[in-house]
Amino acid sequence: MKIENNISALKKSIPEYVDIVAVSKTKPIKDLKKAYHAGQRIFGENKVQEMVLKFDKLPKDIEWHMIGHVQTNKVKYMASFVNTIHSVDSHKLLKEIQKQAFKNNRKIKCLIQVRIANEDTKFGIEPSELNDFLNFSKILPNIKITGLMGMASFTDNKNQIRNEFRILSKLYNDFNDLKVLSMGMSGDYQIGIEEGSTMIRIGSKIFGERNF
Ligand SMILES: *Cc1c(COP(=O)(O)O)cnc(C)c1O
Repeated sequence: MKIENNISALKKSIPEYVDIVAVSKTKPIKDLKKAYHAGQRIFGENKVQEMVLKFDKLPKDIEWHMIGHVQTNKVKYMASFVNTIHSVDSHKLLKEIQKQAFKNNRKIKCLIQVRIANEDTKFGIEPSELNDFLNFSKILPNIKITGLMGMASFTDNKNQIRNEFRILSKLYNDFNDLKVLSMGMSGDYQIGIEEGSTMIRIGSKIFGERNF
């Protein structure tokens, strides 16, 4: 299927209030251009260097979202343009984002990544740490915590995915000023939306399978 068709089919299958992050990691510029021409304006990458290269080559009305784990020494390369960082999971990273956002005279939107999966390979803070984390972020003037991000376990067990998403959704609802719930990928976005997601991160369903 063509990228343009994939995007319009996806849009038709979800409620209007749900934002789509087109996850373009590993994909060539020409594929991102096709998505752009189909009206897509939010793109997600998981490596800072790759995002910087693509930012340089593409129209400036794109919102760039960093969805992958970020090393603190890489924040400076994206601080001038990144719209939202989905994967904030340490005070150290938060402090560095604050520092670089200040240098660029910007406010950077961040989502806190919460560990909901039943696998220890996943990044994210523990649900019990969220309150402290949000309090800490309040004193950082160049950071705006807009919501939460989480990834369910990599499994075919839909009940397990749903239960994990519910943990995140409950946290999201417990804290009033959060707007964004980034929850759901190509394989599980319908469950994500049923459980309250407002933002889905879709790669292969738009751009096709990744080879690497
Ligand atoms: C790669 C990636 C996605 C998209 O994965 P697909 O299954 O291709 O939709 C979403 N979120 C994160 C954090 C990713 O790294």
